[in-house]
Amino acid sequence: MAALIELRGITRSYQVGGSELKVLKGIDLEIEEGEFVAIMGPSGSGKSTLMQILGLLDRPSSGRYLLDGRDVSRLSDDQGAELRSRAIGFIFQMFNLLARTTCVDNVALPMIYAGVAGREARARELLGVVGLGDRLWHKPNELSGGQQQRVAIARALVNHPRIIFADEPTGNLASDQAEDILRQLEKLNADGITVIMVTHEPDIAAHARRAIRIKDGLIVSDERTAPKALAAGSCERQSSAAQRPGPDRTRLSAAEAWEYAQSALRSMAANKLRSTLSMLGILIGVSAVIAMLAVGRGAQRAIEARLASLGSNLVMLIPGSTSLGGIHGGAGSFSRFTLEDVKAVGALAHVKRVDGNVEGGVQAVYGDQNTSTQVTGALPVYAAMHNAEPYFGRFFTEEENQRMERVALLGQTTVNNLFGRTADPVGQQIKINHVGFTVIGILPIKGSAGFRDQDDTIIIPLRTAMRRLLGKLYVDHIWIECDAANDIPEVMSEVRALMRHRHRLPDFKDDDFSLRNMADIQAALTGTTQTFSLLLGIVAAISLLVGGIGIMNIMLVSVSERTREIGLRKAVGAARRAVLLQFLIESAVLSTIGGLIGIVLGVTVSLGLSRFAGWAAIVTPQAVLLAFAFSAGVGVLFGFWPARKASLLSPIEALRYE
Ligand code: ADP
Ligand code: MG
Repeated sequence: MAALIELRGITRSYQVGGSELKVLKGIDLEIEEGEFVAIMGPSGSGKSTLMQILGLLDRPSSGRYLLDGRDVSRLSDDQGAELRSRAIGFIFQMFNLLARTTCVDNVALPMIYAGVAGREARARELLGVVGLGDRLWHKPNELSGGQQQRVAIARALVNHPRIIFADEPTGNLASDQAEDILRQLEKLNADGITVIMVTHEPDIAAHARRAIRIKDGLIVSDERTAPKALAAGSCERQSSAAQRPGPDRTRLSAAEAWEYAQSALRSMAANKLRSTLSMLGILIGVSAVIAMLAVGRGAQRAIEARLASLGSNLVMLIPGSTSLGGIHGGAGSFSRFTLEDVKAVGALAHVKRVDGNVEGGVQAVYGDQNTSTQVTGALPVYAAMHNAEPYFGRFFTEEENQRMERVALLGQTTVNNLFGRTADPVGQQIKINHVGFTVIGILPIKGSAGFRDQDDTIIIPLRTAMRRLLGKLYVDHIWIECDAANDIPEVMSEVRALMRHRHRLPDFKDDDFSLRNMADIQAALTGTTQTFSLLLGIVAAISLLVGGIGIMNIMLVSVSERTREIGLRKAVGAARRAVLLQFLIESAVLSTIGGLIGIVLGVTVSLGLSRFAGWAAIVTPQAVLLAFAFSAGVGVLFGFWPARKASLLSPIEALRYE
């Protein structure tokens, strides 16, 4: 029968400070299935190094290692992990249990990496076998050393290994507990499992059936001290290990994801302050993104609403040139518009309606209430052009305008200021700059758009305003409504030509008026909010970046703190991908929790802004989703490097990190 383990000329050397340190100097060894071997020797002789090579945690520098006939001296990390998870169990001097994790979960850990189901039942069964049936849900720090080592034995057995490696398993135990552990190992061996145990104490080695002594990297003696145990169950075990399908290492199972998420939460709970601080960056970034989007969207809406309330397809004709330089033309070139100008513009093609306006600040009085407000003199078309049909009462007529009647329409704010919220103003007499007017209607509410309250206004007939109230001979500006949006450019050039003609401007003179297109105004206004949003976006992006770096930093700390844990996970069969995923999930959980709190904060801030500061802020579900995706993405992105670092750790260096 071929040996289970066959070593030929195995050497292992380390590079220490530029020179080569030879630890194993050519080991030849055969171990058969079912043996109980003690590897002995003084400290530093290379026992652990040999055992790690045997356990596929480390690779020899030279020589050949056949495990069950297969050459395993040059396996990749993941091939080693897979073989370890299926055929090998480890018991360490330091127990190496996961802290803050129950016995059941500790024992079941290798099954997760092996991708096997029925974990809890199997873990309970084995904990019963090692005599810890009543300690299932205890954590390592609630157990004695001997009990912890028994948990480690159960963990080593969980995947039906063929070989158990134990490196000084009793080194940290009192002698009665040590006896107990040794009895357990003997029992396993009697069940057919090959046990290879490193120890430097002869009375412990006496429990084994074969003693191999090492000194300075060479075997100095190898003696059988007792006959090999009758390996009753070994044949059955062997076949079951071979037939068991290997874990599917390309897919993340739900059990794995759950285990990683749990371990992430455990390590966060163990370092609450640290985790909170590192979340802070993400939290601030995400809430900034949300508030930024909400305010941006709110400003956009407000502008759209304001523009819609002004009317559509409008062009405004105002006096004065828009040419740069400010001073131009000299005296007399400042233009003024007459009612004839208004008529002439109205006669142009593609012009639907024209309105001439005068404006002025006035004092309005009703009873003992008075308010200063803005009066606009307008033509009856005003209502249709500016979406200002009174919702209560009526607008004035052309006849009233011609007769210069003293009738007025009030905006809602003016109504509130003069009449309070209850009285019905329509039909009441008010005084505007000491001139008596009859209120005939209430204008629809337009809201404020940041600059001015559009409802703090009074509209009266144009001629009344010019002659009776403000004493103006000319109109202040002219509103022109085009038939359709694409007529606007043509109308603008026609109006320009007409006004130059009417004002008798010679060719060398600039226009003494200017035309404003509502589309231009709209573009200018939305452009402002876009710049504003962009700036806020940059701020948000920077804080997310800073948050990401914070997370990366804390993950790097976490990886180096948990080097031993990583080594242990790899020793019990975690592939690189599994470790990578674990830390990726951990950083994603960290940043996602930060992101969720950030969302709550961002929404609160947005609501607060609109409630108390009067800013329009609109939180959309898209913005919340975007922020959430961003925070998780930052976690994955910035967690990748630390996670990769962890996944590349060699199990043996990680375990030696003692
Ligand atoms: P022991 O027989 O006590 O278990 P080890 O196998 O742990 O001894 O170590 C044997 C020798 O190899 C020691 O001298 C140790 O310092 C050295 N050694 C072990 N690991 C490394 C390493 N990663 N780098 C350098 N030297 C090492
Ligand atoms: Mg050692």
